[in-house]
Amino acid sequence: MGLLYEGVPCNLCGGTLYKVLYEGNIKDDPSMSLEALKKDYSASSNIILTDRIVKCDFCGLVFVNPRPKINNIIECYSQAVDELYVSQAEGRIKTFRKGISLVEKYSKQKGRVLDVGAAAGFFLKAAQENKWETYGVEPSKWMSEYGNRTLGVNIKQGTLEEAKFPDNYFDVVTMWDVLEHTGDPMATLREANRVLKKGGLLVVNFPNIGDPLARLFGRRWWFILAVHLYYFTPNTLSEMLKKSGFEVKAVRPHFQRLTFGYLVYRLKPYSKTLFTFLNGFTQLFKIGDFQVIYYASQTNIIAVKFKG
Ligand SMILES: [Zn+2]
Repeated sequence: MGLLYEGVPCNLCGGTLYKVLYEGNIKDDPSMSLEALKKDYSASSNIILTDRIVKCDFCGLVFVNPRPKINNIIECYSQAVDELYVSQAEGRIKTFRKGISLVEKYSKQKGRVLDVGAAAGFFLKAAQENKWETYGVEPSKWMSEYGNRTLGVNIKQGTLEEAKFPDNYFDVVTMWDVLEHTGDPMATLREANRVLKKGGLLVVNFPNIGDPLARLFGRRWWFILAVHLYYFTPNTLSEMLKKSGFEVKAVRPHFQRLTFGYLVYRLKPYSKTLFTFLNGFTQLFKIGDFQVIYYASQTNIIAVKFKG
């Protein structure tokens, strides 16, 4: 591979044989700058993926290959500023109150919780309201500072591996829409296993490419975004969890809550006509701030550390 792209083996089984699931145009152009990558890599980026997606011949893991070099991607995330994401604070905190209830349904005790890819700390805020001792890691300097300053949560800037937490330290680790953004999900899961207490809980939320909606929409499924490097199914993610020392307890659909105005905005890359119509309609009737609850292929997987 050239300057900006790298080829990767399967992260689950190490295999190098795959089928192309969706063709892409490889933008490995030496004149392309890091600046050009930056617009693709921020938490709420809705840039549609144009890279190639492959499926491992051996284990069925679906992933982007080749992909932009991971160090460049992390650099983009660390510099990301995302006003749009934080503008959805109210809906996101409400969604995360459901998230912390889910955690409490499965966790034996209330103690230390670590949110990986904490963004602006909305989940940690909901956890703090419920008397959890909160910790977060987040590569974006702007997002982590925003959370620490405006929400009074405890976010370390950087990746999980960089944070170097002690062994057997947390009761719960959460990853909300994060694992599919990482360059080495197996390494991230192993690190989560190391920092969890034995019997500790891991909650992962991810867009499920095995969902009937994903099959129906194919290449036009809304989660096929430049920011998503991996496309898990409950099966492939369960295999990864087993290999990294976890036992899967439950797989369940995840409901989200956002404003109508934001959902209309997310429609823009797919249909300009529909966007223009709905946006006008939204403004006319002043319904941009209405909260909408919906299911859109997001899935939760709940696992327990059994070894490590
Ligand atoms: Zn594989």
